[in-house]
Amino acid sequence: MKHWTDIALPIPEWLNTWGAGVPQTFPEINQRMAIVIDLARINLKYGGGPFGAAVFNRRTGELIAPGVNWVVPGKSSLLHAEVMALALAEQALGDYELASHGSFELVTSVEPCCQCLGVLMWAGVTSLVCGAYSEDAQAIGFNEGPRSPNWQQELVQRGISVTREVMRFQAVDVLQSYMGKIYNCHLQIQDPIK
Ligand SMILES: [Zn+2]
Repeated sequence: MKHWTDIALPIPEWLNTWGAGVPQTFPEINQRMAIVIDLARINLKYGGGPFGAAVFNRRTGELIAPGVNWVVPGKSSLLHAEVMALALAEQALGDYELASHGSFELVTSVEPCCQCLGVLMWAGVTSLVCGAYSEDAQAIGFNEGPRSPNWQQELVQRGISVTREVMRFQAVDVLQSYMGKIYNCHLQIQDPIK
């Protein structure tokens, strides 16, 4: 019988060298988004998807953890940028619940898909900041999955503030530069069988 082992998810090695020489504190929302869009753009060069994210301490602006979409190279559907950033933030703080350690913000270059929407709630961030719209990702063929049409309001009701369209055009520019694989195409909504 197959022997299952601990689940270990790969992250790109370049994330460990990327931060060198870059300030680690980003007081302004545009500075935080600029870093996240940079991560997405660099990720394209290494074969990853056109999505970046990072977790910041809301009060100090300290970068807690970066994330990029590594689904295709990492061979895991879990490896969305937001999930990687949140998981690395949990690793950095040594806890599955960030809210126990202060107030944290997830900044993402594109609005979260159905998976990331769930993870960001369970991880306990208090703020979500998005660059491009979901529609911008859909325009190049990515699928965001089924979400409530009121997903932003539902986050706000749970104490998570939502800010959209921060540097959207720069985030869209990275999406449009992507020449790699579009996955989850089998989940496109089918016409009902007649
Ligand atoms: Zn996602």
